[in-house]
Amino acid sequence: MNVNAASKPVRRVVIAGGGTAGWMVAAGLSKCLGKQVDIRLVESEEIGTVGVGEATIPTLHFMHEILDLEEKEFIQATQATFKLGISFENWRNVGEDYFHSFGRTGKGHWTAGFHHFWLEGRKRGLASDYGDYCLELRAALDNRFALLPDNGINYAYHFDATLYGQYLRRYSEALGVRRLEGKILQVHTDPASGDITGLALDGGELVEGDFFIDCSGMRSLLLGQTLGVGYESWSHWLPCDSAVAVQTQSVGEPVPYTRSIAHPWGWQWRIPLQHRVGNGLVYSSRHISDDDAKAALLANVKGEVLRQPRVIKFTPGQRDVVWKKNCVAIGLSSGFLEPLESTSIHLIQKGLTRLVELFPTDGVRQSDIDEYNAQAREQIEVVRDFIILHYHVTNRTDSPMWRACREMELPPLLKHRVQHFRDTGRIMLRQGELFAENSWVQVMMGQGITPASHHPITRNMDDRNLADFLGDVRKDVARTLMKLPKHQQFINQFCPAPPPD
Ligand code: FAD
Repeated sequence: MNVNAASKPVRRVVIAGGGTAGWMVAAGLSKCLGKQVDIRLVESEEIGTVGVGEATIPTLHFMHEILDLEEKEFIQATQATFKLGISFENWRNVGEDYFHSFGRTGKGHWTAGFHHFWLEGRKRGLASDYGDYCLELRAALDNRFALLPDNGINYAYHFDATLYGQYLRRYSEALGVRRLEGKILQVHTDPASGDITGLALDGGELVEGDFFIDCSGMRSLLLGQTLGVGYESWSHWLPCDSAVAVQTQSVGEPVPYTRSIAHPWGWQWRIPLQHRVGNGLVYSSRHISDDDAKAALLANVKGEVLRQPRVIKFTPGQRDVVWKKNCVAIGLSSGFLEPLESTSIHLIQKGLTRLVELFPTDGVRQSDIDEYNAQAREQIEVVRDFIILHYHVTNRTDSPMWRACREMELPPLLKHRVQHFRDTGRIMLRQGELFAENSWVQVMMGQGITPASHHPITRNMDDRNLADFLGDVRKDVARTLMKLPKHQQFINQFCPAPPPD
């Protein structure tokens, strides 16, 4: 028997779950493959969605390009604001901040990134603060934003997750996706092949399909519970296992960045939207109780609380495989990394685009499954390492959690990267990595590493050349910054959202 033979052709796709993952997948599949496959989505209003996940990274533009969305319409429909990066407060040390911007800091040379020239400039007393060379960073801290020609500013969004789901639902239904309301009570499988054959709903309906996408959230109803795929925990690297979230009324104008504020037992987010603010704490339940975390969050938010805080439990990690037989898990059903760098929605997008690339229209083949799973693992592992970096490289010793993080053994690639940067200032990326050199540099230096040396090519410049080079970049940033309106002013002009119902 040929083990790589395809199973039967895929004509009927069933998506289990209608959170951000379910509707992103429904929208993407219907846009790309809607003419070839029939798509149905099952969700349960009674169970609801996780209700968080409101900060994104710039890769979301590609998703919206695929869907051909109009930016203004998206912003208005989701009460979105613009995001230029993340402010990390108290991470390196209590009372010290740094900024991870989405921008390109300065211009480098093919041999060495800009930070090498900046390090040389600083050594010779010719350079000012690293942030002065990055438009996105300066604009964020000055609360300014505008769309600039030729991708002159690199940005993402904060949006209301519920409104985003509704927006993508309208989009998907217009392209023929059929939504079924109901609780999945049982998942039917074929005893011979082990494939999933249908979802039995509480109303008695059986939703049959050829291919199933598990977007059921952390329950992982299809891949985990039915197909028995195991879960690899990364708790030994990522101490936090709980979150508490609360929405508050806006006080003041929204800033164009997410705030991430470290505490002795975790960290707090603050995500400003047009109509409200999303707040939450991600914490280690070994170091603080749920009740104390709730109290700490409520003591640290501004504005009227719109809904009572909700605790969410999680295990950082990934399913052993994310595609098995005729089922792919996308979203929380496939694994979870805390939202420190706002990467989960990006990983949903990657899960979707990879599925479209490998879509088994003519039948499921093991080689497609293997390729999908290998790419999924590579992509999540580099994101995981980037998040671990924030916890490990710190000067904080004020609590058991931070002391344990400083002492932990790192995954091998990250261990090498940290040492390489400490020694040489070099960041050597692998192909297709999510975070660019400048992201790694900002976080490594922001968390407290000063490289012992930097690239010798920088010594080719005499003082005058180097001062001119750095000065030109800085002046360019300052000049553009002066022209940008305030973030709120830009929203008012470009894309004000109607007040919510
Ligand atoms: P869910 O939202 O849980 O949706 C599951 C769906 O399955 C629901 O529709 C539910 O009704 C349905 N379902 C489940 N069981 C059944 C059943 N038996 N029958 C019928 N339907 C069922 N990501 C980011 O990119 N940025 C962030 O800032 C960010 N912040 C986060 C903060 C926290 C605290 C957490 C926990 C996550 C955060 N994430 C963030 C991740 C992000 O929220 C998720 O990736 C995203 O919301 C996708 O969730 P989902 O659709 O997979 O799951």
